[in-house]
Amino acid sequence: MTTKSKRSLLDKWMTITPVLFTVVLTLILAFLLIGQKIYPDERDMMATECQTFDAQWQKVLENGERMDVTVPGQVPAEWGEVVTLTTTLPDEVHNGDSICFRTIWQDVDIYVDGELRLNYTTKDSRPFGKNSAFRCLFLELSEEDAGKELTYSFSSESKYAGTMRTAYIGQESSIWFYLVEEFGAKALISVFLFLVSLFCIVACLILRYVYKKMLPLSYLAWTLFLCALWMMSEIEFRQIIFRNVSVLTNGTYWCLMLIAYPMIIYMNEIQDRTYSKMYSIISIYTTGVLAVGTFLQVFDIVQFVQQLPFVHVGIGACILAILGSITYDTFNGRIKNYLAVGIGIYGMLLSAVLEIILYYINVELSLGTVLAVGLLFLLVMAIVKTGQDLMDSEKKKQQAIMAKEAQAKFLANMSHEIRTPINAVIGMNEMILRENKDETVHEYAQNIQSASSMLLELVNDILDFSKIESGQLELVEETYHLATVIQDEKLLLNARVAGKPISTLIEVDPQIPAKLLGDKLRVKQILTNLLSNGVKYTKRGNVTLKVSYEWIDAEHISLIFAVADTGRGIKEEDMPHLFDKFKRLDLSENQNVEGTGLGLNIVKQLVDQMQGTIKVDSEYGKGSVFTVSIPQKVVDKNAIGNFEQAVRECRKENQPKETLFTAPDASILVVDDNRMNLNLMKALIKRTKMQIELAASGAECLELTRRKRFDIILMDHMMPEMDGVATLKTLRGESNNANKNTVVVALTANAIAGSREMYLGYGFDDYLSKPIQADKLDELLGNLIPSALIKYEKTKVESLGMDVEGKETDLSEADDTEEINTQSVQTKSNAQEVAQETSVQEEFLDIDSELGMQYCLNMVDFYKDTMKDFCEQVREYLPQLENIFEQKDWKQYAVVAHALKGNAKNIGAVAFSELSLQHEKAAKEENEAYIISEYQNYKETLQKLLEKVEKLSEA
Ligand code: ADP
Repeated sequence: MTTKSKRSLLDKWMTITPVLFTVVLTLILAFLLIGQKIYPDERDMMATECQTFDAQWQKVLENGERMDVTVPGQVPAEWGEVVTLTTTLPDEVHNGDSICFRTIWQDVDIYVDGELRLNYTTKDSRPFGKNSAFRCLFLELSEEDAGKELTYSFSSESKYAGTMRTAYIGQESSIWFYLVEEFGAKALISVFLFLVSLFCIVACLILRYVYKKMLPLSYLAWTLFLCALWMMSEIEFRQIIFRNVSVLTNGTYWCLMLIAYPMIIYMNEIQDRTYSKMYSIISIYTTGVLAVGTFLQVFDIVQFVQQLPFVHVGIGACILAILGSITYDTFNGRIKNYLAVGIGIYGMLLSAVLEIILYYINVELSLGTVLAVGLLFLLVMAIVKTGQDLMDSEKKKQQAIMAKEAQAKFLANMSHEIRTPINAVIGMNEMILRENKDETVHEYAQNIQSASSMLLELVNDILDFSKIESGQLELVEETYHLATVIQDEKLLLNARVAGKPISTLIEVDPQIPAKLLGDKLRVKQILTNLLSNGVKYTKRGNVTLKVSYEWIDAEHISLIFAVADTGRGIKEEDMPHLFDKFKRLDLSENQNVEGTGLGLNIVKQLVDQMQGTIKVDSEYGKGSVFTVSIPQKVVDKNAIGNFEQAVRECRKENQPKETLFTAPDASILVVDDNRMNLNLMKALIKRTKMQIELAASGAECLELTRRKRFDIILMDHMMPEMDGVATLKTLRGESNNANKNTVVVALTANAIAGSREMYLGYGFDDYLSKPIQADKLDELLGNLIPSALIKYEKTKVESLGMDVEGKETDLSEADDTEEINTQSVQTKSNAQEVAQETSVQEEFLDIDSELGMQYCLNMVDFYKDTMKDFCEQVREYLPQLENIFEQKDWKQYAVVAHALKGNAKNIGAVAFSELSLQHEKAAKEENEAYIISEYQNYKETLQKLLEKVEKLSEA
């Protein structure tokens, strides 16, 4: 047989296996059931015979007379009376036979021919009470006892004073066997009820943790649990299981008294508390019965067994209340809210009524079985309702989550979209500010500037908030220098306090590890929000940032930022709402302070996401301290050391080799008494798109700085009248000067060793030596302008790759220069190949106007103006370039090529920019051969480009 056919046979066998299993199982079950019925009772073959002890009993009266009585049944007797009954034992008695008497709240003495053979009382073993709990008593007999007189004497301080229950005769084991068979069903059902209710209680407890609410079902489960306990205590053969039946019986009486409680709580919840009043009356009654009943029983005044009617009244009232309310709800239609439970209750009530009737008809009838079935039915229906409720709430929850997510997404999208036009407004306004000379218009534009920056801040807050809310915000971990983060915050802080009489202080623990791993941007955001709040809510005094740390383990630290201010502080009662979203506090005081009430909420959420903590100490009227502690992984355990020094070092390390950046939002003031120098600086700085202002003297500088805040000031040292040092001193001393804390860099023509120390000593932040080298200037600006304002030209480089190559190139940020260089070479060789058919210059005259427009906010006029600027520059550079070339001043050649590279790129003349880069590089390397062979070509291309751009700008 082939393997394939073997496999298909085995597969077929597997498909019929389930059928086979079902058939065989059915046969086995049928055999078990039918076999029990049709085959003889094997128990007869063992000595398991047991019969009811039917005898004619006589009551011995006080005067010695005897009176026939019917047993089992009720013998006339007073409470507490010792009732003596006699009868004659059967003529035939076997050794090992016993008579089993079932007592009920009675003390018993049993005599055979006057000899006391058995005595039962729990007087010495029960906790309290006057009667002995029910029990099966076994009177052992022997053959000699046949025909002797049997005296059964009993008493009870209850209505059971004369109650005789059925007795059994036979071997003791067979009597037990009989009792188990007779009352086993009730025992089983009560144990089952007990287990089911216990399971439900545990399930509800678990669900409580999942759904964070208590399910009403648990109260019903407790009701069942109490019923089950009570039923278990009523089992005929309980003495086999429990050591002290007196304790058991008393305990379960309390259970019985308690039953009404959980049931009414359950109903109250299910019926939405519509019948609260009615249920509270029952609850009060139950509490009364419980308290009074316990007192009466414990002090042996009235036995629990005698209090039963009161307990039944409570349970009965509970049943009536439930019945009444659900009947009422059936008519008014409210039952549809709990239909399944309603049906369950009707079933359960029916069983309860049956149970009570049965109890009062015949005590002997098995207690609780019918009620147990009713309760189980109710439980099943309640589980059905709970299932429906949970499914409903889960559905609603899902819908709510989806709605919330959609809302947050909408908010995130909208704020993202809104940012674009706001940026355009800010950009256009910036142009007005730069080019307009009219004072009034300038003022309007300044108002637009402050309003639109505020609007942008607000939109950014909402964007962050909605990102966090919709779970879109993910932490992006990277290695970062702590020093640069703090430096950026320092610059930002200084910018914010401008014009306010607030001094700032940054303290950094020099031992703190220098390099960390974490979400740098979000760490900065936390600091920015706290620091700007510090400035916003402080009128005068100081705002301090303290940075410290604690080791968590060998690899991690808790990075601790403490932002303290001497502002208004926060009221004690406002503290709990500090981190609420959209909540602004102390409005009467903070009316004029702009804000959204989102800043601290964002901080809290970010800190939480980073598994950190935030603490606030504040004294109203005195100030606040916000302490944030966030765990960060340590990358470099070397200590940060001197903070300023660390900043300089890591900026140098991080600086791209070829600085290609723009900072259109940064403003710079250049102070120099020499017009030419000013123009040169202007030309050098222009390509960074920074907003440049010029001052020709110290006095002019002071005047300007009082009006407008700058991000950086470049100040010539040697100036007539007020020199750079004196101007700086005055500037730093003017408490209301917007630039009191602005970074100021000295410009000097005579740099000597030790200049840095000298200028730092004067209070400058750095110095630059003249003639200004473009690279040095770029490096310095890159170091000192807040990094948030700097845009490195990576995207431009990428688009460059696209435009020149015609396909996307993957350029890594760090190797931009290298990549550009190789690309240029490739471009060139491509161009050379093409040159065989077309002119080389034509290639380099390409203008990517789309890119140029993009740099100019997609505004045609702006683009045209930029092109005009370009032409103006080129007209200046062309003769300069010629001069420089002739003098072989390669350094200056590099400066001009560098400037041309940037300017050309600004208008989208990407290919020419590339060409300029080649020339700049060659000049830097003093590659004379290259320049000499290419210069003519370069110059002509530039002339042609100038003509082309001139035409375009006029069009
Ligand atoms: P916003 O500043 O936009 O109102 P925040 O969430 O940042 O929102 O702050 C919420 C509130 O907490 C503020 O309205 C302010 O009343 C109070 N608050 C925050 N920081 C400070 C502080 N440093 N000093 C005093 N009050 C503060």
